[in-house]
Amino acid sequence: MLYSDPTYLDEIHTCPYCKEKMSCCEAPPIHIGDGLGWGSEILFICLNDECSLFVEGWKSIEERYCHHASYRYMELPGSKESNLMMVASKDAYTGSIVDPQALKKQNERYRKEQQAVKDLATCVQDNNLDPVLLLILDEAANLSDRKKAIPYLLELNNLACIDPIRNHTFRHAELEMACNQIIPQLLKVNFKKECPHCLEIIKAQAKKCPHCKESLETT
Ligand SMILES: [Zn+2]
Ligand SMILES: [Zn+2]
Repeated sequence: MLYSDPTYLDEIHTCPYCKEKMSCCEAPPIHIGDGLGWGSEILFICLNDECSLFVEGWKSIEERYCHHASYRYMELPGSKESNLMMVASKDAYTGSIVDPQALKKQNERYRKEQQAVKDLATCVQDNNLDPVLLLILDEAANLSDRKKAIPYLLELNNLACIDPIRNHTFRHAELEMACNQIIPQLLKVNFKKECPHCLEIIKAQAKKCPHCKESLETT
């Protein structure tokens, strides 16, 4: 779910029938009736069950069309133009209410992901580990971009990537495996290893871990 223009999430729409604040709802994919989309990802809908439009709608539709339905008042983002949505029950659209704050966060995350994908192209010349780590550690990011980021760990040769990766819980076993293959290589080219007991990064030749004091002789 992507919201191209988060500015409308700050909009306040008030129903002219009941003066209540309207709910921000995810738009249905198809505008039922003419088959066209709304041209918006969200709609502001008055979901107040006491709203006079909704209360009186049942009767007027029954009389005019002989079926059981009513209206909800709707406005598109950035517009005060009134629209009536026909609903067959009072629960219609209540399941598609979205939280503008959560959407804004999603947008922010997506924006960062897009920037990281862009920065990935120049991360080696910029010696910039940030976009590589951001993509690898962002479980919501595009999987193929995350996979693309992994080989850069070796090219950037920055041991600072190890802790955040080790501390991350991957939802994709494939990504975790790819990282687990790269980390030993990265350690090796830096003459380091991970202590098998405490996982601290130590010198490859160490016979005793300086952190946990465990002996490493038997390996
Ligand atoms: Zn209303
Ligand atoms: Zn240790």
